[in-house]
Amino acid sequence: MALEVLMPRQGQSVESCIIIEWKVAEGDAVTAGQALCEVETDKATFEVEAPEAGTVLGIFYPADADVEVLKVIAAIGAPGEDISAMRPADAAPAAPAPAPKAEEPAKPAAAPAPSVQPQVSSSTGAAYDIIIIGAGPGGYEMAERAGHKGLKVLLIEKKYLGGVCLNWGCIPTKTLLNSAKHYVHAKEAPEFGVTTGEVKFDLAKTMAWKQDVIETLRGGVAAMMKKNKVEVLYGEAKLIGSRKVEVAGTVYEGDNVVIATGGSPFVPPIPGADQPHVMTSKEILSVESMPKSLAVIGGGVIGVEFASFFSSLGVKVDVIEMLDEIIPFMDNGQAAAFRKALKGKVNFNLGCRVTAIDGHDVKFVTKSGEEKSINADIVLMSVGRSPNLSGMGFEEAGLDFDRRGIKTDDQQRTNLPNVFAIGDVTGKSQLAHSATRMGEVALNTILGKKDRFRTNAIPWAVYSMPEIAGCGMTEEQATEAGHKVDSKTLPLIMSGRFLAENGKKGPGQVKVVIDADTRAILGVHAFGAYSSEFIWGVAAMIESGLRVEDAQEIVFPHPTVGEVIRSTMFQF
Ligand SMILES: Cc1cc2nc3c(=O)[nH]c(=O)nc-3n(C[C@H](O)[C@H](O)[C@H](O)COP(=O)(O)OP(=O)(O)OC[C@H]3O[C@@H](n4cnc5c(N)ncnc54)[C@H](O)[C@@H]3O)c2cc1C
Repeated sequence: MALEVLMPRQGQSVESCIIIEWKVAEGDAVTAGQALCEVETDKATFEVEAPEAGTVLGIFYPADADVEVLKVIAAIGAPGEDISAMRPADAAPAAPAPAPKAEEPAKPAAAPAPSVQPQVSSSTGAAYDIIIIGAGPGGYEMAERAGHKGLKVLLIEKKYLGGVCLNWGCIPTKTLLNSAKHYVHAKEAPEFGVTTGEVKFDLAKTMAWKQDVIETLRGGVAAMMKKNKVEVLYGEAKLIGSRKVEVAGTVYEGDNVVIATGGSPFVPPIPGADQPHVMTSKEILSVESMPKSLAVIGGGVIGVEFASFFSSLGVKVDVIEMLDEIIPFMDNGQAAAFRKALKGKVNFNLGCRVTAIDGHDVKFVTKSGEEKSINADIVLMSVGRSPNLSGMGFEEAGLDFDRRGIKTDDQQRTNLPNVFAIGDVTGKSQLAHSATRMGEVALNTILGKKDRFRTNAIPWAVYSMPEIAGCGMTEEQATEAGHKVDSKTLPLIMSGRFLAENGKKGPGQVKVVIDADTRAILGVHAFGAYSSEFIWGVAAMIESGLRVEDAQEIVFPHPTVGEVIRSTMFQF
């Protein structure tokens, strides 16, 4: 007798699931346990398997259908069995028996293209549902999600999959910082009862490991594109209209075009900045010998991470920052405490403006007008990043942008119909996870699902030693925004795990900022080991609009460093 295949229940709160893709067709013979279709909830993706071997007699809902759990989605049995009683009332009508195939007209030969052959698939007759320019975390993650939904996607990349983040940003810097952390831990090991021999740092091996990590992850992205049927085209893309993109003389058409071209280091016109030992974050990632001294121009996230890396390896490091404090979005008090933690390792020159780089001398003027200079083997220029906007036909296409980036609304739409922009090129938030989220918002908008890019709870982290992380408003920002603010701070050393792993001198603290009237959590800011790992939980609290009392009811695992957030909530 024919068997019903039910939409499985996935947890108590899930009432329905979306069928992403059928992996079999009516009439196919299947084995027990064979995947019949791929299904997703808002929490997970999974496969529905054949309960036993047989023939697929009926598929009752098409791909993309949102089906209640425990409804019959298919029937399996012996050929010829009657399954009409199994068909749910709201199921798609039964497909008529296939008509004999008419002879297909001969197709014209496809135009030659660099590496992919466009095929007509979309609703407007364009070759692709979405064309994405740029394969950074904005572009490739969006391509993956869109491919997963069954859309036909073309991802165009001029250099490497993974963009800046994977090749010259997040990943290589964190790999280097981790090696430096091992070095520091090995040197401090005797404090924790472990005797080591001479501890040495091997720059060449570290760089080789960094390259290995990059290439492994790049391979992972390529595999992900393949799995989700995303076509990848290597070449430099140019926008030539609302729905058209040109690469090496071939025009590709899509229902939607997404610009995810990222950003590049900004080098200000300081005399002497064009010397070979003056590097940006890109070149310094490939230094072949350890400098004795480093001058970092710019005390933002990138400057502080490199300052931390080199200083922990014994390099003399000076940071020269024009503003009165490092990392502009950091809580002011914590920034000062963080600088204190690096005392003797990094020399911070705040409120100082660099005027020239004369050979190896970096010349600058202090706040009081005094002229000073610092001699350094290498100078790192890390004063910010600019969106990649030129040479891509944006102006000719009529795209609205300025030097900060392409202008977009909350759904990542630009002024041109069906053209979206995501990630660093928008200038909205220069973080990999922001780029990814913007891509998700753009995809949902394309799919007609309500979504918007919210900026109130984007966590950020600096992977220095000690780490820094934050989410939501600082006390200064909350006050400026008109909140009646209350805040509490606790040291991380309150955590048993923190003390055990970092010793009694381990620096770090957590500060919680709330609205004193509503008790809503407005922000949490921290520095110290593991800050980057626990800060996402704060994003969940702020996104959910939790008050202090709600957060007090959340159970944290013990012993963890993140527990200090919970303890701080009980200080109000
Ligand atoms: C040193 C450093 C460390 C960083 N660390 C972190 C971190 O720890 N965490 C974090 O969140 N962020 C970090 N960032 C920032 C992060 O790298 C960016 O926010 C992120 O890469 C932006 O992603 P995106 O997709 O917008 O663009 P990108 O990653 O910049 O990718 C854009 C892609 O578009 C391609 N492209 C450009 N023009 C064209 C064209 N015409 N045709 C085809 N392809 C094109 C480029 O080759 C590139 O691959 C760091 C950045 C740097 C420089």
